[in-house]
Amino acid sequence: MNVYDLIIIGSGPAGLAAAIYAQRAKLNTLVIEKAMVSGGQVLNTYEVDNYPGLPGIGGYDLGLKFREHADKLGAVFAEDDVVRVEDEGDGKVKRVIGQDHTYEARALIIATGAHHRLLGVPGEERLSGSGVSYCATCDGAFFRNKVTAVIGGGDVAVEDAIFLARMCSKVYVVHRRAELRAAKSLQEKLFSLDNVEMVWDSVAEEICGENRVESLKLSNVKTGEKREISLQGVFIAVGITPESQAFEGLVDMEGGYIKAGEDCLSSAPGIFAAGDVRQKQLRQIITAAADGANAVTSAERYLMKH
Ligand SMILES: Cc1cc2nc3c(=O)[nH]c(=O)nc-3n(C[C@H](O)[C@H](O)[C@H](O)COP(=O)(O)OP(=O)(O)OC[C@H]3O[C@@H](n4cnc5c(N)ncnc54)[C@H](O)[C@@H]3O)c2cc1C
Repeated sequence: MNVYDLIIIGSGPAGLAAAIYAQRAKLNTLVIEKAMVSGGQVLNTYEVDNYPGLPGIGGYDLGLKFREHADKLGAVFAEDDVVRVEDEGDGKVKRVIGQDHTYEARALIIATGAHHRLLGVPGEERLSGSGVSYCATCDGAFFRNKVTAVIGGGDVAVEDAIFLARMCSKVYVVHRRAELRAAKSLQEKLFSLDNVEMVWDSVAEEICGENRVESLKLSNVKTGEKREISLQGVFIAVGITPESQAFEGLVDMEGGYIKAGEDCLSSAPGIFAAGDVRQKQLRQIITAAADGANAVTSAERYLMKH
């Protein structure tokens, strides 16, 4: 079996930045990606306005650009879903078990990112794709002139609500507390919109509808008061979960995030974590890409010693 210098698991911004740096470092590298298209969460982003040099670029276009750059430098990709890694320790070959094949490398970068968290209320799964969405930028256009609700109180929830307010007749923002966690600048923008109504101190109890979303049942956590809103779309933005289940027991984690510092070195020598899957302060494209670069630099140092 071909033993690669480096295997990168995941091809979002972290994995693709790592692939670019690995190609330039002349490491014999394989990138394993479970999705048919590279780019990760960026593909679901309507517009990215905070990546330096590319103001307002579409998320899908940015994902493609990252992949094209890696391709141009000769990066090699395999489509497979990594389910487990076997590691016998420092200096030993690491075995990556995918659904289809097994791969071997002297060092690994885990760049598997994160996914949307479910709300866990009745109707959510059944009506997912029929009015329930986790991505306003992907699905918002289907709700032109319709009434929608966004559930959540962080940056993504508020960004989603601002975006939806451009096309929906009305947007409710349902939040379990009396104030939002989102950046103040986003809050100011949200509160300035005439067609946005805040529903404070409230949680969703059920998403209702026969074949499509028709209403949302809410409960006020302070007063116990119940309310049912007629609407056509429910956008859930209640956080993300790291994609790290395949690496449980392999590396130390906290809350599912792999513990690693700026050098991206995990608790297992030769295994590095980059991007949203790493325990860190800010999960963005720019920090994911930076991790990819740092992880390769650390991997190079590790490979030189072994
Ligand atoms: C709606 C939305 C809007 C956003 N807007 C912005 C923005 O405007 N600006 C910004 O900077 N950031 C934004 N972000 C955040 C940004 O997209 C993420 O921080 C970034 O994509 C993280 O990159 P990553 O490479 O770590 O992970 P991801 O982008 O999650 O990529 C991980 C990749 O790994 C693959 N993978 C996972 N598990 C496996 C496995 N077991 N085997 C093989 N492959 C696997 C996945 O398929 C995926 O392709 C947004 C995120 C969302 C959801």
